[in-house]
Amino acid sequence: MAKKLISIIIPVYNEEKNLRDFFNSLSKTLKLLSPQYSFEAIFVNDGSTDNSAEILKVLKVRQIELSRNFGKEIALSCGIHHAKGEAVISIDADLQHPIELIPSFIEKWQKGADIVIGIRQKRAGEGIIRRWGSYCFYKIMDLISETKLVSGETDFRLISRQVADEFNRFTERGRIARGLIDWLGFKRDYIYFKTRPRQLGKPSYSFAKLVRLGLSGFVTHSLVPLKLAGYLGIIITIFSGLLGSFMFINKFIFGDPWDLAFSNVTMLAVFITFLIGIVLICLGLIALYVANIHLEVTNRPIYVIRKKENLD
Ligand code: UDP
Ligand code: MG
Repeated sequence: MAKKLISIIIPVYNEEKNLRDFFNSLSKTLKLLSPQYSFEAIFVNDGSTDNSAEILKVLKVRQIELSRNFGKEIALSCGIHHAKGEAVISIDADLQHPIELIPSFIEKWQKGADIVIGIRQKRAGEGIIRRWGSYCFYKIMDLISETKLVSGETDFRLISRQVADEFNRFTERGRIARGLIDWLGFKRDYIYFKTRPRQLGKPSYSFAKLVRLGLSGFVTHSLVPLKLAGYLGIIITIFSGLLGSFMFINKFIFGDPWDLAFSNVTMLAVFITFLIGIVLICLGLIALYVANIHLEVTNRPIYVIRKKENLD
């Protein structure tokens, strides 16, 4: 029986200090599995500006070099597009994802999971702001989005050939690979691990980059921010409308029985607030149309079939 091919995708951006160690541990782990499986490791060089490209050449590995730095998400997607294996594993080059867990991923896949996700239990060596930021991101995402992201989910994951094929149908540009994979559904299983602090080199995601990624995550996976203006408008309109009517009726119909004596400026302010509310409602209406366009333009596959039985 032919051995099953498994692809390993490694996005690389300025990892010259880590690549050799990474390569050595990867080779060691894969050798243990070589009786049952064959492997292709694809290094996607995401426009590194250091010596990563030369090191990869010396190591004689499969390498896809991108024309510039597109960001990890695109690099990962590129790797998945080129993977031929029956399962595709993605893993970081900075040794933060424990390579020795690869056999467990494969085992869970063999037991029937379509997607095996590495969950990070503790974020060693990361600042409080980052940790807090990521916590908030997942909480808000969970509230407003139909895509469920589990806190601590990483890009250390395995996807089956079928999931990879479906993933390859996504055409959107602003993407978070794990968000898209989560959107796909399928049978999933989890593996928990502790991240080590990055051994060498700097994390290349600056805080600003992470914030941008987070925002694009909200925008591409939820329409709530878009509709926010509308909801705000409704609240403001109702509130100032009631207040205004009360002032009006109080003064002109009942002749101000409690001596509230609202000044004209106050009444004007309430009236303007009322108008602002209406403007916001109109914005919200426009947002509904934009939302529709947004949905169409991202052009996601409308449905995904996991399995078919007794029909073709
Ligand atoms: N990476 C990449 N392109 C980028 C930034 C990062 O391909 O623009 C790679 C990087 O080489 C590493 C992985 O993505 O293999 C994770 O990057 P990093 O350690 O900076 O992110 P974090 O661990 O904070 O998620
Ligand atoms: Mg890292």
